[in-house]
Amino acid sequence: MSRVFNFSAGPAVLPEDVLDTARGEMLDWRGSGMSVMEMSHRGAEFMEIASQAEADLRELMNIPSNYKVLFLQGGATSQFAMVPLNLLRGKGGADYLNTGHWSKKAIAEAKRFCEVNVVASTEESKFTTLPSQDALQFDPKAAYVHYTPNETIAGVEFHWVPDTADVPLVADMSSTILSRPLDVSRYGVIYAGAQKNIGPAGVTVVIVREDLIGQAAESTPSMFNYQVHAEAGSMSNTPPTYAWYMAGLVFAKLKRDGGLAAMAATNQRKAGKLYDCIDNSGGFYKNPVDPHCRSWMNVPFTLVDDALDKTFLSETKAAGMVQLKGHRSVGGMRASIYNAMPEAGVDALIDFMNDFKNRNG
Ligand SMILES: *Cc1c(COP(=O)(O)O)cnc(C)c1O
Repeated sequence: MSRVFNFSAGPAVLPEDVLDTARGEMLDWRGSGMSVMEMSHRGAEFMEIASQAEADLRELMNIPSNYKVLFLQGGATSQFAMVPLNLLRGKGGADYLNTGHWSKKAIAEAKRFCEVNVVASTEESKFTTLPSQDALQFDPKAAYVHYTPNETIAGVEFHWVPDTADVPLVADMSSTILSRPLDVSRYGVIYAGAQKNIGPAGVTVVIVREDLIGQAAESTPSMFNYQVHAEAGSMSNTPPTYAWYMAGLVFAKLKRDGGLAAMAATNQRKAGKLYDCIDNSGGFYKNPVDPHCRSWMNVPFTLVDDALDKTFLSETKAAGMVQLKGHRSVGGMRASIYNAMPEAGVDALIDFMNDFKNRNG
């Protein structure tokens, strides 16, 4: 067996020991005589898997008891609709920050349901910067404020939490959840598709404050209603059982590895040395993002001459480093270095980049 360093933006690398555990339990989960995939979601075995995963996530993120944790399907993209359907509560509009590709998608979907007030947009900078708190004039009557703490494509990340006073703050944390400690009580809703920092694709984690549940618009489909899922323990229909189980294995691993403070220290170090490599390359590599809002998770960079892109990609692939091609809207390269990317993978990339620059610079 040989494993590559996988820099994919998502679905992304998973911790090797988690995959190993899943393999060991594949045919017979802890003496049950069956695979997790074959279990009834209402049986005692899966109930144990499900509740342990939730308990571990609550402990890791220090989630207060007045928040529900839901394990849903439909991806972060479904939340773009579920958030307005559940949170408008009869109000006419919501505030949105437009800081990149995923913010724009969330805004476009919300416009189907309400007045969207774009409080700040960084589109003119091609999403290479973020607004400061002073620049944000929130509407105190807005139903909620929505933002994207980490924009996966342009590689910008808020290293602070917007202050929205009494208006509930909603965050699409798909590509940054679990990368660092967080004060959950600052948020009304946090949601994340699993396939970047949680587990395999197929499950979406939604953390929602209880007082925001139960006021969905009349016409809301029941599968889009937080109350329906909250009352049923996310088992109103068959949940994505295997993805939930795998997420649970990741949560348990993060606990073993020292929790989110330990993850943050590692993530900051990994990102820091990659940005240093780029910044110290004498212009051979460039990251266009303002230093104060560079992402710890997604690092886009261009080469001095895009004619070199192909060679860079084929040589990294030959050296066991894959999925480095940048998003078509940004060009160049993108290294996604989520929790599960070993520091050795970042070190290998940096060594390669320095060598490549010396040979081609
Ligand atoms: C990947 C991603 C999404 C889309 O997630 P799906 O699970 O595919 O719906 C949304 N928002 C952000 C920030 C992402 O990184």
